[in-house]
Formats: sequence, C-alpha cells, structure tokens
Amino acid sequence: MNLQDYISRHEFLSPIIEAQSIADRLVEALDISIEFPSVEECKALTADGVPVLQHDEVLARLNPFEGETDRKIFETLIRQEELDCDPMLRLIVWTMIDRSVPKELKASEAWATWRRNYCPICGRRPVMAQLRKEFQGRARFMLCDGCHTMWEYNRLGCVYCGNDDLKSIHILEIEAEPEIRLDVCDKCQAYLKTYNHEGEEQIYLNDRLTLHFDLLADDEHLIKHGSILTE
Ligand SMILES: [Zn+2]
Ligand SMILES: [Zn+2]
Repeated sequence: MNLQDYISRHEFLSPIIEAQSIADRLVEALDISIEFPSVEECKALTADGVPVLQHDEVLARLNPFEGETDRKIFETLIRQEELDCDPMLRLIVWTMIDRSVPKELKASEAWATWRRNYCPICGRRPVMAQLRKEFQGRARFMLCDGCHTMWEYNRLGCVYCGNDDLKSIHILEIEAEPEIRLDVCDKCQAYLKTYNHEGEEQIYLNDRLTLHFDLLADDEHLIKHGSILTE
C-alpha cells in the first residue's frame, strides 16, 4: 500500500500528521544547522555506553539557541528530564535533532555491538521495534522516536524491564493489519509495537502512523514508553 492510500484509509491520523508537518515547516523556517559529531567521534563517545547526546560538552555544542531560557529548555528535553511543556515544542526540538543526525549513524549497521535498551545517539528508550530476516532466522531491531536511529537488541524479552521469562510476555494483534503486533510484558505492563515485516517501513515503522495500535493498548491499560510527545 502506498503512503497516501494508507493515510486516506486512516483518517483519524490527520491531526497527528498535520502536527508533524507544522513542526517540519517551523524547523525548516528556523534554518538552524546543527553540526553533528562524525561517525568516528560518535563511536568513541559511546564506547562506555553513554549516548552521544548525553555528554554535556556535546549537548552544549549542538544547542542551536542563544537565549539562556531556550538553551535550558532544549537541554532539558534532550536529557529527557521532566518538563511540563507543549507537545508541539517537544516535536520541534526532536525534529531538529532528527534532521541533524546523519543517515549512516541512524542505520543499525553502525551500532552492531551496542545491544542496550536505549538509543546510542540520544539515550531515549525505543518506541517501536522491527523483526527482520537475518542469516539464522529473525533479528529484532529497536527504533528511537527522537532521532530515528535503529539498533539491534535481544530477539526475545521485554526491552523496558529486562523480563526474559517468555511465559509472562504475550502478543496482541489486529486481524485486519497483521503488519504490526504488540509484545506485551505482564511484569511491567509495557508494550512494544513491532513491525513484523519488511518493505513498508515508511508506513509501519512510524510511531505516529500506527497510532491505532496504541489505542488498542490503551484500552488494555498498557503502558507506552519512548514517545517524544510524552517523555
Ligand atoms: Zn535516539
Ligand atoms: Zn517489562
């Protein structure tokens, strides 16, 4: 299915798509250029498990704002500290970050040895996962909602609490849309929205475009992690 068809079949997605396009236009109009550290520099920065953007000096260098308050808001959001602010502001700041991270750093190939439950670039918890065919079966990759970096993680178990007792993890699906399933952890009540296939990443590997699966989870009182709109 192409993206346009998908969107017209899921009209309830319009407000969220519109919000993202406003954020895109605003960021474009701000014309801020953030010079991201090189691949080599990122590898060195993350060698001990500290994500690139969680190094104070890197964060200060990348901060595109001049006013003290703006600089502080930017850093608070990137550090994922608590801040009561408009979701649009979150969307704008993370759109800036997303645009500044080079493609090669977003690809899972760049992070073959990472295997942690947080993003190597910004330190966020993953918002979604994808199962891909690999040489010996299927492998699971995590997606960051902030910078859209992907990295491989354990094939099984809960990425949020580390629960690896498979008896306490179950799967929720919508029959009409088998592309996505929810891996639910009975221990921490969190779920991980997982794209089961390959080839339609533009649609199914997009947290906002698969919102109806979050509504299903919400009906079951499950907890969502990793979204830039809430954390
Ligand atoms: Zn990230
Ligand atoms: Zn869990």
